[in-house]
Amino acid sequence: MDKKNLKAMDLNELTDYIKNIGEKEFRAKQIFRWIYKGVSNFEMMSDLPKNLISKLKEDAYIGEIKIIKRVDSKKDNTSKFLFLLEDGNIIESVKMEYSYGTSVCVSSQVGCAMGCAFCASTIGGLVRSLEAWEMADQVLQIEKQINKKVGHVVVMGSGEPLLNYRELIKFLKILNDPLAFNISYRKITVSTCGVVPKIYKLAEENIPITLSISLHAPFDDLRDELVPINKKYNITQLLEACKFYIMKTKRRISFEYILISGVNDSERCAKKLVSLLKGMLCHVNLIPLNPVKEKLYERSDPREIKRFENILRENNIPVTVRAEMGADIDAACGQLRRSFLKEVEG
Ligand code: SAH
Repeated sequence: MDKKNLKAMDLNELTDYIKNIGEKEFRAKQIFRWIYKGVSNFEMMSDLPKNLISKLKEDAYIGEIKIIKRVDSKKDNTSKFLFLLEDGNIIESVKMEYSYGTSVCVSSQVGCAMGCAFCASTIGGLVRSLEAWEMADQVLQIEKQINKKVGHVVVMGSGEPLLNYRELIKFLKILNDPLAFNISYRKITVSTCGVVPKIYKLAEENIPITLSISLHAPFDDLRDELVPINKKYNITQLLEACKFYIMKTKRRISFEYILISGVNDSERCAKKLVSLLKGMLCHVNLIPLNPVKEKLYERSDPREIKRFENILRENNIPVTVRAEMGADIDAACGQLRRSFLKEVEG
């Protein structure tokens, strides 16, 4: 009989399990706490009675994803981690240090089906979605490894989180749970390329995270090319969903805009972006493209970036240019996993 992975359960599920094996409800809370202290060995759960420990050892285990590679940037305190999953798949996460604390960028899927033209995660297609505990364990294992609490989580690693909706919500609730990570929803960001129906759904969840939209182009024909989900849900539909999200949550949306030289960084693009976003409770994050070997795109030069930024600023669109982190360690989405897979496959 397969052992049950207690880490895959939220507190309600764990409570049901504990009652089912004939134990008192409060034991679930004790075990839950241990799990998020990073303890995976029942013997170390010092407030559990011996007989319960042996029962648990027979019937259950606490799953872990294993760090198989860590790469530290020499330029800043960014580190990349490659994890081996129980089924042999590999995912990656990034840890960044900011003045306000430690932030982890989590993958939501193995690979990605979205096909964005500039992104490394999508090159091998989608392998599978991650379970909530596999997302949570990226944060937990990094905390253990660096011996520090993670204060912010961004779901901006490989994968499209809104196409892994149920597990994403379960993960967000575990991040927020005072008995687990105890991270405020305001310190969590979820990034999507624009799965419109799920944006409406998320708006109704009463989970006040920051929503980030990978916009990258202000014209449909260009966005069709760069972010192909645009063929299914165009810019108008996407921005309507965003307005609904803002109305429901009163939260400011963050628009990500990668700057690719000669592709989406013209004055015309900047002006169109202004007209799309004018009056919206939002913020634009300009990201100089992180060039991916397999793709032809190049990053805009600093002058073009400045020009684009100024047009937004002059028109009162709140804008920042994202500080580049970990450029020396393949920190762009999916790049490390890809270079690792290539290495082992030869
Ligand atoms: N699927 C989600 C989350 C994962 S991608 C989404 O699309 O938002 C996270 C962010 O990294 C997105 O804004 C994505 O467009 C960006 N990204 C992907 N490849 C990149 C690259 N080569 N350089 C810079 N940003 C990249």
